[in-house]
Amino acid sequence: MAKSLRELGEGGVISIFREAASSDGLGPGMAIGDDCAVFQPAPGQQSLISTDMLVEGVHFRKDTISARDLGWKALAVSISDIAAMGGTPRAAFLALGLPAWADSTLVHELKTGLMDCARAYGARLVGGDTVSTPGSLLLCTTLLGEVPGGMALLRSGARPGDLVYLGGVVGDSAAGLFLLSAQDPVPGTENFAPLLRAHQRPQPQVELGRLLASAGLASAAIDLSDGLLSDLGQICQESGVGARIDLEALPLSRQAMDLAGRVGRDPLDWAVSGGEDYVLLFTVPPASEKRMLSLCRREMGLRPSRVGEIRSEPGLSARRGAAWRRVVPAGFDHFRP
Ligand SMILES: [Mg+2]
Repeated sequence: MAKSLRELGEGGVISIFREAASSDGLGPGMAIGDDCAVFQPAPGQQSLISTDMLVEGVHFRKDTISARDLGWKALAVSISDIAAMGGTPRAAFLALGLPAWADSTLVHELKTGLMDCARAYGARLVGGDTVSTPGSLLLCTTLLGEVPGGMALLRSGARPGDLVYLGGVVGDSAAGLFLLSAQDPVPGTENFAPLLRAHQRPQPQVELGRLLASAGLASAAIDLSDGLLSDLGQICQESGVGARIDLEALPLSRQAMDLAGRVGRDPLDWAVSGGEDYVLLFTVPPASEKRMLSLCRREMGLRPSRVGEIRSEPGLSARRGAAWRRVVPAGFDHFRP
């Protein structure tokens, strides 16, 4: 029987997470229970720190994601930021805001999803906080990671002539959200499970980020959270450059194209401005391109897609067909709905 928050109390919520969080091998101070966690990066490593917030009604709705997937996603989005810097995730913190309707089943499901994600990527839950909220469910994750000293991938390193690459398909997450939010049932939904999974259980590209950083092959990188053009725009802004994107070169999944065809949508809209794909976008100097491709194939069996080029003129332009046209980054902005 599910217990109410009143029956559970703050201690009850914490113990649900504490029982599941093991501190094996992390050393003293790296388990839930002290006022702070003690974090010591390995010799020669620098710390990476990232924080992300997921708020009900802003980032998700209860009817489009299960509590278990939400637990996974809350940590996965932070892991993706560590991946974008070329790092390895280590220690996670969860701040949890629970509204009155929450109960022990919800807390258990959130914990299970979060722990599944932590285990899959080798991170440990080492602390957090829990509060009651007057309305929305809220999860804020903070993640500490490590990267070899001086090797972190930054947004500011792209140079004119560098090639723009994507580590995986784009648009699946937005296509999945379209399906989940559709008013009328879409026929053949059972074929679209990968789209739902992309939206509800994103798989951050930690291995790819680490490979690019340790081999010194990428000049800049970012993970796609707000949308392809918007996130590429961030690299351009930080690097003081512009970029061209060949829309016909964007890697789309068969399922996203199939769904778009059935519902009369343009799959490129999902790919360009949908967001939440959590694949890596990175830039590669032409001299490193061959080595990057062969290393990705050999080490990961992965074939990143070349989708554009960094230019010295500021701004973004895109091609679909023959003509290049200026485009304005469209993506999610919290303060411009
Ligand atoms: Mg990011």
